[in-house]
Parts: sequence; C-alpha cells; structure tokens
Amino acid sequence: MLLDYTSLLLAAGFSAAALALTLIATWLSSRAEAFLLTWAIGIATAACGVPLFGLYTAQFRPLFAWMAFVCFSVGLSTILGAARQFRRRRFSLRRVILASIAAIASFTPGFLAGHDGIGFICFNVAAAAIILATAYEYRRCRAEAPTAVAGLLILYVNTAISFLCCAFVLPAAGNLRLTAPPQNWAEYYNAISAIIGITGIGAISLALHQTRLARHHRHDAQTDELTKLMNRRALLERFGARNLPARTAVIIFDLDHFKLINDRYGHGVGDSVLICFAAIVAEHLPAGAMAARLGGEEVAVVLTGTTFEDAMAYAETIRAVFEKNICGTDEGSVSCTVSGGLTFQTEAGAALSDLLGQADMALYSAKGGGRNRIATASMRLVA
Ligand code: GH3
Ligand code: MG
Ligand code: MG
Repeated sequence: MLLDYTSLLLAAGFSAAALALTLIATWLSSRAEAFLLTWAIGIATAACGVPLFGLYTAQFRPLFAWMAFVCFSVGLSTILGAARQFRRRRFSLRRVILASIAAIASFTPGFLAGHDGIGFICFNVAAAAIILATAYEYRRCRAEAPTAVAGLLILYVNTAISFLCCAFVLPAAGNLRLTAPPQNWAEYYNAISAIIGITGIGAISLALHQTRLARHHRHDAQTDELTKLMNRRALLERFGARNLPARTAVIIFDLDHFKLINDRYGHGVGDSVLICFAAIVAEHLPAGAMAARLGGEEVAVVLTGTTFEDAMAYAETIRAVFEKNICGTDEGSVSCTVSGGLTFQTEAGAALSDLLGQADMALYSAKGGGRNRIATASMRLVA
C-alpha cells in the first residue's frame, strides 16, 4: 500500500480542517448564507474525531473509538442540518440533536457491552444513513443546479457506500469482539472516500453557493424593489432591439393623479398604492406575459401570442379591478384609478421601444380623454 492507514486518516483530518476554514472565510464575506457556518461547524466537529480515531488505532482503547464516533455522528448530523438549511433557508437545531442522539444511541450499547465490533457496525450504518439523508436534501434542490447536484449525489452516495462496506466486512470476518483495530480493504476505501468526499463535496458545494449568490444578484438587479415587478432594464434586456413576434400587445398603465395622493397622504401611502396596483397587475397576468415597472407610477405589460381582444380585455380588467379596489394604507383606505395605452401588432416588425412609444401615445390620449380608461394606438377609446 502506497499510503498507510494513519496517513490516510491524517489527510482526511487536514482536508476537513482546511474546508472548515474555507467555509468560515466564505461565510464571513456573505453572512446571509448561515448554512455555510453550520456546515463549517459540522466539518470541524467531524475533524475532531480524526485524532481520536488515530489514538484508537495506535493504542487500541475502545473508549477512543467511541469518542471519535460521537464526534463523527454530531459532525455528520450538523452537515445534514446544513444541507437542510441550504434547501429550506431555516436551521433546525432540534433535528441535528435528534440525528446525533439516534446515531450515538445506535452504537453505544455495543461498546458498553464490550462488543465493540457491534458498535463499529452500528456506527457505520448510522453514518451511512445520515450521509444518504444529506444527499436526499440536495437531491430535492437539484432544479437549482442539476449538474452540480448530480456531482454531489455521486460523492455522498459513494461515501455512504464506503461506510456500509465497513459495516458489512466486519461481521463477515467474524470478529464482533475486536482484538485489534479493524484493518481491511473497506476501512481503506472508507478513508479514501472521506478524503475525496471532503474535497469534492467542498468544492462543488462552494460552487453551488456561488451560483445561488449570482442568481440572487441577477434577480435583485432585474427586480423593482418596491413593487417586486421586473424593472425597466430587465424588460429591455429580455426583448433587446430585435423585432417582437406577430400578435404582440404592449400596454402602459399610468396611475391617475397619483401626485395628489402623495401630496395629500404622503409618499408612504403613495408607495402602498403602487404596491396594490402592481399586485393586481401580477395577479391577473396571463401565462407568458411580462409586467415591468417602467419607473414612477408607470407599469408596462407585454403580451405575446395574444389577440387584440384578449389584450384589451386584460387591460380593461386591470382598470376595472383597480377602480373598485380599496388600498389599505397606514393613513386608512385610499382608492385610485388608472389609465392605459395599448398597442397591438398583427405582424412582426416593431421592436419593444417602438411599441412602448406607440403605447405611450395611446396613454396620452387616454389621459386627454378623461383618465380611468384604456386607449389604443389607433385612438380607439373603451369606457
Ligand atoms: P396623471 O394622471 O396625469 O398621470 O397625473 P399624475 O399626478 O399621476 O402624474 P405626474 O407625472 O404629475 O406625477 C407622478 C408622481 O409620481 C410624481 C412622483 O412624485 C410620484 N412618484 C414617482 N415614483 C414614486 C414612488 O416610487 N413612490 C411614490 N410614492 N411616488 C412616486
Ligand atoms: Mg400618473
Ligand atoms: Mg406618469
């Protein structure tokens, strides 16, 4: 064997310690992602078990093996907690404690009864179960990054299999009351899997974290903070300068006399009315349509693959629902109306900016026609 077992243990311990430090450093630069800290604590706790297990293999005192298994159990349960926290964005200490207690309770009786071999088997099975549960947590968020999660699953499942091999090789050798630390191919496979697992899982999980962070930043850059609708930049990026397809409608909504609401009740109430309106637009938005706050109290909606009648019906619904809607604000109930300008193209040919220009002209005529109405680019007015 190129490497002896103690060297493998040392390598696993050092890579675990290095990963824990990397995770803490990463957490310090993005504290919102608390799962990184949980994970670092889990890895560090498991790493504490490595020197204890080293002592066990050197001195063959079962107490050291038991103490090492306690560290591994608590560490792995915390890593499971971190995976759950990654998925649900909430940490459950209760689950970590329960998983740790279940694992410790599984192998302690064997050690107490002097059947340390049984203790080893039970620990290996418990460790495999916790690792598989961790893999399952990641599997449930595979839509977020399918390739990275597939890599993680392979590494987690391989590590779990290596623990199961340790569990099954031991009784096959017939020694349930150990006379020396177990030394067999499964123990080597397990130590090597742990090293590969720690480094591979560490790298992939950090990449997964970066992917999530990048997605958050992209989402924030494209979202209007107040209304949670897409912002103008995102809408223009989505369609670029290319011509929009045939049967596309663009509507611009603009709240009526909105300045009066700000002047009368204050900016905070104005904000609440804007949020109310955006919620109505989003709630009635047909599948595939996009709504964006262009700025101020103006919202644009792009409907593709629609008909003039359907687009008109949508705009009219928004107008009618908003007219009847009473917005609950800090200053009491406030009502408001909205005007809309709509343009529709039967054939492809115009870019979004052209259609926005046409819809804006129509909006202008809706305002001129008395507000609280939808006008079309061809100046057709609807009540
Ligand atoms: P019209 O019916 O002609 O559209 O009149 P209006 O008062 O709605 O239009 P005007 O363009 O004169 O005023 C728009 C106001 O919207 C002025 C600005 O202070 C307010 N506004 C723009 N952005 C925000 C915002 O984020 N929150 C609040 N509360 N007000 C905003
Ligand atoms: Mg207005
Ligand atoms: Mg305006």
